[in-house]
Amino acid sequence: MTNEKINTCCYCGGKEPSHKIENDNTCPVCKTMGIKVKNITVKHLVIDTLAESVGDMDYYICVNEECNVVYYNPESGVKFDKQQVKVPIWFKKDANPKYACYCSKVTEEQVIDAVIKHGAKTVKDIIEITGTMKNSQCEKNNPLGKCCHNIIQEAIDKGLSMK
Ligand SMILES: [Zn+2]
Repeated sequence: MTNEKINTCCYCGGKEPSHKIENDNTCPVCKTMGIKVKNITVKHLVIDTLAESVGDMDYYICVNEECNVVYYNPESGVKFDKQQVKVPIWFKKDANPKYACYCSKVTEEQVIDAVIKHGAKTVKDIIEITGTMKNSQCEKNNPLGKCCHNIIQEAIDKGLSMK
């Protein structure tokens, strides 16, 4: 009687977890491709009564200005719309006020004002005039979790083009 050795070797490679389709990051409502946002940002900006349902996942943000959805997670199906987020999302329709810097609560209007009335031309000028970007905590305050530098620059360009 031979103790037959079962060769399991050729099976061990077959147990790899099936890869999820990585491209599945589109908004559940408007199907626009989202931008990844860290969990810490979402947790901080979703209204307090809903903070628990955020969980530990990272989210995507819907960048479609017409769409009511802000954060969503395609795997869990959890989503938060504009009314469930503490701050207006500057690139969404009807955002009011339209913040350029969320940390210092400086609005796009204030940046444009600084350009037109005070001759600001650079982000550095804006920082001096408006006091923006002090105590930066963009990871928590900016809806994208990114530094507001680019948004301020865009507002400056807008102001310069109005001059
Ligand atoms: Zn959407």
